[in-house]
Amino acid sequence: MAIIVDKNCCVGCTLCVPACPFAAIDMVNGLAVINDQCTICGACIEVCPVTAISRDDEGTECEVCTPESYSGVWVFAEQRQGQMLNIAYELLGEGKKLADTLNVPLSAVLIGSGVAPMAKDLYAYGADTVYLVEDKELELYRTETYTAAFVSLVKKYMPEIILMGATHIGRDLAPRVAGRLVTGLTADCTELGIDLDERILLQTRPAFGGNVMATILCPVHRPQIATVRSGVMKKAAPDYDKTGSLVREAYRSREVKVRTKVREIVKEMGKVVNLEDAKVVVCGGRGIGSAAGFALVEKLAQKLGGVVGGSRGAVDAGWLPSGHQVGQTGKTVHPKLYIACGISGAIQHVAGMQGSKMIVAINKNPAAPIFKVADYGIVGDVHQVLPLLIAALEEQATKGAD
Ligand SMILES: Cc1cc2nc3c(=O)[nH]c(=O)nc-3n(C[C@H](O)[C@H](O)[C@H](O)COP(=O)(O)OP(=O)(O)OC[C@H]3O[C@@H](n4cnc5c(N)ncnc54)[C@H](O)[C@@H]3O)c2cc1C
Repeated sequence: MAIIVDKNCCVGCTLCVPACPFAAIDMVNGLAVINDQCTICGACIEVCPVTAISRDDEGTECEVCTPESYSGVWVFAEQRQGQMLNIAYELLGEGKKLADTLNVPLSAVLIGSGVAPMAKDLYAYGADTVYLVEDKELELYRTETYTAAFVSLVKKYMPEIILMGATHIGRDLAPRVAGRLVTGLTADCTELGIDLDERILLQTRPAFGGNVMATILCPVHRPQIATVRSGVMKKAAPDYDKTGSLVREAYRSREVKVRTKVREIVKEMGKVVNLEDAKVVVCGGRGIGSAAGFALVEKLAQKLGGVVGGSRGAVDAGWLPSGHQVGQTGKTVHPKLYIACGISGAIQHVAGMQGSKMIVAINKNPAAPIFKVADYGIVGDVHQVLPLLIAALEEQATKGAD
């Protein structure tokens, strides 16, 4: 599918140019020309007074490119300033299972500047091939540049499945790539599988506020694209004896219209919290009562060598930065010990912590749903229970030191 302009009808009125939200229309020799920023949204069709613009629904699907002509599983190896994100390794772990089931190779897509040395880590974590696009222009993520690089790789090598992290970048890149390729995307999958008879990716994710699990299929279009959150899939143990093949592709910068300039990267102040890899998470909810109340949560976390998390209730109240949120729209954690303090246990919260090895809940309401998922429950006021726990740990530490 594409947007087409009938040159014989276009009167060069330029009404379509400001109507396009993606700056995808240029005026060339007095006529409207659609450029590669087009998302086929159709806003231009609505405003054209002479019906010169239309959607070309027919004849644009390549007869050669049937689903069967796509093959292989790809993982977007997301790196930031030369640092590979854990999610890339987790997706390679999951991608390997899918690739083995389909009996196809597993590949990683590495885009950036000076990132080639990271390919060896991608082989170690399971990639058979690394598609590398390097250019100074690609040093920092920008939607236009990364989309162009990714889409041209897909058009050339035609993978059947693409997995990306549901990170800020993945959530921006995946829909743009899917839009360009006119295919489907399932965001925030929690489980992936293969229907071997149909050779289709089974993309499972919570729906309707987490009340049902929906398995979503993309039966007609290819590639099938899914995003997965960090911490949901398991990475395999790396094998640094394993190697793979490197496919370098040039970045055709002159063909890409870039409207974004990164002037400065301002890092969020304050401590970076790595909830996903923490062995102990002490999580506070609205029951904590105030930002100041979190001092007790922090103290308990510190005594246990853990990190502080929060429910969305606590984050929305402004008691904690959003990076601390655990749950469906926050982070997924799987520590050895998870302590929920003053958290009701809404399904959206439980979705992010139910993989914890041991769950301890403190809540003054014995009927709170959190007790249904807890291994140990303490019915009581957090302001009384937390100081008792902290004191007990301090006493234990003193005894241990004697
Ligand atoms: C689409 C969607 C996505 C969402 N994503 C998330 C998410 O990612 N993470 C998340 O957490 N939520 C999420 N939510 C919100 C979720 O539904 C709940 O509203 C939220 O988890 C409630 O936070 P809470 O348990 O801290 O607060 P509340 O539900 O208000 O519960 C507070 C609990 O504290 C107890 N309490 C009160 N005072 C004390 C005290 N002194 N001592 C001990 N216990 C006390 C109460 O008995 C109560 O059980 C989402 C909702 C939607 C619709």
